[in-house]
Amino acid sequence: MTKEDVAKLRAEIENSLAHAKSIEDLNSIKVKYLGKKGFLTNILKSLKELPLEERRELGSLLNQIKDELEKALKVKEREILLAEEDGITDLDLSLPGREPELGALHPLTIVISEICSLFERLGFEIAEGPEVESDFYNFTALNIPEWHPARDMQATFYLENGALLRTHTSPIQVRTMLRKKPPLRIIAPGKVYRCDADVRHSPMFHQIEGLMVDEKVRFSDLKGILTYFAQNIFGEDTKIRFRPSYFPFTEPSVEMDISCVICKGEGCRVCSQTGWLEILGAGMVHPEVFRAVGYDPSRWQGFAFGLGVERIAMIKYGIDDIRLFFDNHLYFLSSFK
Ligand SMILES: [Zn+2]
Repeated sequence: MTKEDVAKLRAEIENSLAHAKSIEDLNSIKVKYLGKKGFLTNILKSLKELPLEERRELGSLLNQIKDELEKALKVKEREILLAEEDGITDLDLSLPGREPELGALHPLTIVISEICSLFERLGFEIAEGPEVESDFYNFTALNIPEWHPARDMQATFYLENGALLRTHTSPIQVRTMLRKKPPLRIIAPGKVYRCDADVRHSPMFHQIEGLMVDEKVRFSDLKGILTYFAQNIFGEDTKIRFRPSYFPFTEPSVEMDISCVICKGEGCRVCSQTGWLEILGAGMVHPEVFRAVGYDPSRWQGFAFGLGVERIAMIKYGIDDIRLFFDNHLYFLSSFK
């Protein structure tokens, strides 16, 4: 037997396997080649008469064919049995499967966990609270009484029982302070709601708030921590600046800008030629807020800040339409893998 004969034999076997339609067909192939008097069995026996070198070479080739045939018979048998069971006639178990696609984190989830873990390293504890709030936690305890015009800027959705969808994550600060004695440091991420919708506003968006209360917390601590935050998220060469602002629950209050990440302060379309991007609001906790939660404002001081996660993500990834975050287009989402 020559190598060509072996190749022919292999082709012959493959051919009969391809044409086998029933278990009977498979059995006759088995008997023909692998049976006690089968073709392969006989040749393998007859190899003894060949010189050692040839015997080795042919023996390994033929044994390989024998192994392949045994495996192929098993696969084919399963195919035929399954097909009989389901009435399927063109099942091919040797076809490669479809690989499931791996998912990835949503860009907002990435930003939230990045910011939270940064503040956790600074000793801040993660705090959470309900999205359906009462007027007290969302407004009154934060020094925004019913008649206060600041409520107009935070128009939200009310439930029939008078509860509302929280307009900011600040109620978490109130809830934490009512539950815990100072000193404390919390970072509070979550969904918030406002009646607002355009390219830059979504009726549901995400905020992260930070609060630190202790006996000697100063404005310079706030500035130091926010500088650390900005440089960690947007790059070491990021500059920050404060502009005076107003929030009912902080005094003094500031808006914080960072140097534009696109033009590095030169002025461009993204920063409206100013070189700065507005990034968050912050300030020293108002004594009225401390009184509302039973902290003595003559002993405790604190700072608080709040930022919009979508805003940070838009700047960080250069996204110009907030709605992309919520459209769930795979093309958009898969670019954050
Ligand atoms: Zn710019």
